[in-house]
This record gives sequence, C-alpha cells and structure tokens, in this order.
Amino acid sequence: MDLGLQGKTAIVCAGSKGLGRGCAEALAQAGVNIILNARNEETLRATASEIAKLTGVSVTPVAADITTEAGRADVLAAAGQVDILVNNAGGPPPGLWSDWSREDFLAALDANMLTPIALMQAVLPAMMDRGWGRVVNITSQSVRAPIAQLGLSNAARTGLTGFVAGTARQVAQNGVTINNLLPGIHATDRAVSLDGGVAQKAGITMDEAREQREATIPVRRYGTRQEFGAMCAFLCSQHAGFIVGQNILLDGGGTNITM
Ligand code: NAP
Repeated sequence: MDLGLQGKTAIVCAGSKGLGRGCAEALAQAGVNIILNARNEETLRATASEIAKLTGVSVTPVAADITTEAGRADVLAAAGQVDILVNNAGGPPPGLWSDWSREDFLAALDANMLTPIALMQAVLPAMMDRGWGRVVNITSQSVRAPIAQLGLSNAARTGLTGFVAGTARQVAQNGVTINNLLPGIHATDRAVSLDGGVAQKAGITMDEAREQREATIPVRRYGTRQEFGAMCAFLCSQHAGFIVGQNILLDGGGTNITM
C-alpha cells in the first residue's frame, strides 16, 4: 500500500532505539525525511545512518533531552516545516503510590505530558495553516488499565490522553489528526530491563522471566518495533484522515478489557 507520504518531514522523538526507532524506520520506508532525536549522540548517529542507508531518505540526528525546553528548541529548529510529529520519551520509574513526592510527579508530568503538549503547540498552527498534519503520541496500555507499580506513568499519560481527546477534535477540520498508540509489552531494551528485575527478584533466568510474561499475553509473545512502527506509519498516512483522537492498543490482547 502506498502511504502517500513521499517527501514529507517527520520529527521522531526518543527514536534511536525501541518503539521510536520502529516508527522512524517505517516512516522512512514510506519516503518520509526524518529528524531523529535521542540523548546519546553515538547511538543516535548510528541509528540515523542505518535508517538513511536502508531507505535513501534524509535522517537528521538531533542529540537532545526532549524533556527540556532547550532540547525541544534544537529539534524544532533542525526540522523547519514539520508534517508529522511522533511524540515519545522514556517512561517514569516504577514505585509505590505512597513513595512519590511532588517533585517526582512534576518530573513525570514534564516528560510524559507537558513535553508532548509543548511540541504539539509548536507544530500544530503551521500544520493547520497548510491543511495537513499528523501527530502520533506513544503512550501506554496503562492508560486503559492501570499498572499498579507505574503510578507516575498512569497519571502523566492519562493527563496527555485527556488533552489529546479535546484538542484532536478542534484541529481535525484543518486536516490535522492526533492519535495515541498504546504499547503493551514489546521486545525493546525496556522489556529486557523489566525481565532482568523479575529474574533477579525471583531467582530465575532471563529466559524464564520472559516465558512467564509471554504466558500472560494472548499471542504468547512480545510485540516487535516493526509491528509498532507499521501502525504508526499507517496512522500518519493519507488513508488515515478519518481516524481522530483514538487510543489504539498494540498489546497482543494483553489488556483484559471489553472495549
Ligand atoms: P527504549 O527501548 O528504552 O528506548 C527509549 C528511547 O528513548 C531511546 O532511543 C532513548 O535514547 C530515548 N530517550 C529516552 N529518554 C529520552 C529523552 N529524555 N530525550 C530524548 N530521548 C530519550 O524504550 P521503549 O521500549 O521504546 O519505550 C518507549 C516509550 O514507550 C517509553 O515511554 C515507555 O515507557 C513506553 N512503553 C514501552 C513499552 C514496552 O514494552 N517497550 C510498554 C508500554 C509503554 P537515549 O537514552 O539515548 O536518550
């Protein structure tokens, strides 16, 4: 399927690894030039040149912490005209509801709610003027079904979801869509670190920890960054102009809910 995205420009935040990388790869395969962001310059440059070599599009690395105002300014300056924005950042640390201070909440809100909102506020006006734009926010399955130890994530990402629900319906008449992708467990560095924690705590191997987790997912495996990226690219495509303000679970059926 031709996604109709040849020659567009996308900012992909937090995209040197994992789900962000999957989104950048799939958009690049559709002919989209990429502004690729992450903090570690060496990893970012390596990923950018691999994607450029495989797809032939231009991939511009911008090493910056996207959760800072200066980092966002660098990324926006490198991009110029932005047709597509993929919002992403690292997730907040786990813990217990009684542990977190005001500062912990502010850090989580900054990274996973206020950063994507600031980037949307920066790019939406020009997208609306041109009559076309796409925003995809990477959030989490925890928006639909809270994960007990991820209270900071539950809180911040649900706040973002509320903002998107209202805003998506205000900008849609200008040809701009905003949607959220909700990952369940995917085979990224984050999954490895989660499995590492379980293995250590339970005195089992990493393989055993992974098998136990896979058994809880109806498809009996983790998702891949390629599957995740393909859905992101479709949401950004010319075919997805009627999909507005949606929260799309990519979780292998792992979230046990009816709707
Ligand atoms: P990952 O494999 O650890 O990759 C994270 C990427 O984000 C890396 O490229 C990292 O590069 C970059 N990054 C992190 N913090 C950043 C910052 N402040 N500024 C710029 N770049 C930053 O993680 P992932 O699994 O793809 O997860 C992506 C998001 O989805 C996270 O918010 C995670 O909580 C959420 N999520 C993931 C899963 C899953 O199963 N994987 C499930 C639910 C939700 P640098 O470290 O070099 O900056």
